[in-house]
Parts: sequence; structure tokens; C-alpha cells
Amino acid sequence: MINLEYSEHRVNSVQTVNNDLFILSVERNDLEFIPGDCVAVYTDQDKSRPYSIASGSQSNELRFIIREMDGGEVSPWLMKRTPGDVIRITPPFGWFRPGQDIGDAPFIFLATGTGIAPFLAYMETFDRPPEHCLYGVRQKADSIGFSELQNFCPTQLAVSREKTRHHHGRLTALLPELPLTEDTHYYCCGLESMVNEVSELLQTAGVNLSRIHREVFFHG
Ligand SMILES: Cc1cc2nc3c(=O)[nH]c(=O)nc-3n(C[C@H](O)[C@H](O)[C@H](O)COP(=O)(O)OP(=O)(O)OC[C@H]3O[C@@H](n4cnc5c(N)ncnc54)[C@H](O)[C@@H]3O)c2cc1C
Repeated sequence: MINLEYSEHRVNSVQTVNNDLFILSVERNDLEFIPGDCVAVYTDQDKSRPYSIASGSQSNELRFIIREMDGGEVSPWLMKRTPGDVIRITPPFGWFRPGQDIGDAPFIFLATGTGIAPFLAYMETFDRPPEHCLYGVRQKADSIGFSELQNFCPTQLAVSREKTRHHHGRLTALLPELPLTEDTHYYCCGLESMVNEVSELLQTAGVNLSRIHREVFFHG
């Protein structure tokens, strides 16, 4: 019997980036998606969690940037996959559409940690860059895609847990440096506290809520 709820994808690689952060690459096959889409990924115990696709929509692979959660049901299982394993995923879904459906309006990306995934998918798919990108990470080594982003658009890194040549501290401290214009769209993705704080600060600065787009991966 064909199960229409999910498709099967062979694992290409699992690459540890830094401590609990890894990149999972699986064959895309003929799966179509829009940058910003997520899929739910299943374990062999039928547990599933949503993960945002980090690769471009024409790439041969589906790439995910995943943080392994201690004691988690799905992310530790995914980290243990090896090339050739098969994983099941649902059809892509989502409502977060960075840089899309806004005509010629300018836009800005703000991400913490794995929340950079939809923005990397955007960058690999489209030519029009955002005005700016703010990227918050715990350590510099967590900053997946940072140099590619720097080549694509003005990008600033905020590193919270070590001193580097980049901003030391939270991403929100860099907000005053952003161009705040009436027609700019702001796309925020990652940790709930960052998304909420950025939304509040932008609204206080006069940005209309309809121009603040939010995707929360982790609560806290
Ligand atoms: C729309 C969407 C897209 C997402 N995309 C991604 C993505 O691209 N990459 C990614 O890594 N994750 C992403 N997530 C989060 C992902 O779906 C899982 O929630 C995450 O991987 C943990 O699942 P788990 O089964 O491993 O852990 P669970 O079994 O769900 O939880 C394990 C433990 O972690 C604890 N925990 C939960 N949140 C935190 C936190 N912030 N800090 C510390 N401990 C915590 C829980 O209390 C629990 O004890 C996304 C979530 C959403 C809603």
C-alpha cells in the first residue's frame, strides 16, 4: 500500500558542525518546496518534529541544520543517521516566506541559531538580496553559512558566549543599526525570546505588525 503521508529519502551525510549542531543532507528526489517551508521528519518509532529546509529549491539535496536536544526524541536520533539510511518526511508545509510575495519592498533577515535555515534556502534560490541580515549564535563555530551570507548581503554576527571580532552579546543590541523604513519587511526566525523581543522593539520604533514576519523554532 502506498502511504501518501510521507516520502522516503536516503541520507547523504550527517556533518557535525560544533558540539550539538549538525547538518543533515538527504536526497531531494522530486520533492518540490518553497524557501521557508518545513517538513516533519519521522523516526523509526513514528515520532516526528518539524525542520526547516536550508537548501535551495533546485538543489539535489534537502539540507537541514539541526541542534541536538539532550534527551530529545527526534534530534538525537537524526544525529545518529549514517549515509544510506532512509528517513521519512511529510510533504513540505509553511507560511513563513522570507523575501517573497512583497513585490519590490526591501526586507531584512534576523535569525538566531538554526533559525538561519530558511534564509539560507532563500539565498540559494533567489538573486535579490535582503538589505541586511543579523545572525545570532552562541559561538562563532555555530555560524553556518555566515561567509556565504556576507557575500550575498550586509551581514552582522552577534556571538553571545565567546569574545570574537564580531558583536559580543545578543542580536537585539544590533537592532538600532538597522535601516528602519516604513515599507521594509522584517523576517525573524529562531528562538522565541528573540522573535518576541525583536517584534516589540520594531513595533515601538513604528514598524507595522503586518511587516514583521515570525517563525519560532524553540521556546524560551
Ligand atoms: C516550524 C518549526 C521549524 C523548526 N525547524 C527546526 C530546524 O530547522 N532545526 C532545528 O534544530 N529545530 C527546528 N525546530 C525544532 C524541532 O522541531 C524540535 O522541536 C527540536 O529538534 C527538538 O526535538 P526533539 O524531539 O529532539 O526534542 P523533544 O523530545 O521535543 O525535547 C527534548 C528536551 O529538550 C528540551 N527543550 C526544548 N526546547 C529547548 C530549548 N530551547 N533549550 C533547551 N532545551 C529545550 C525539552 O524540555 C525536552 O526536555 C523547528 C520547530 C518548528 C516549530
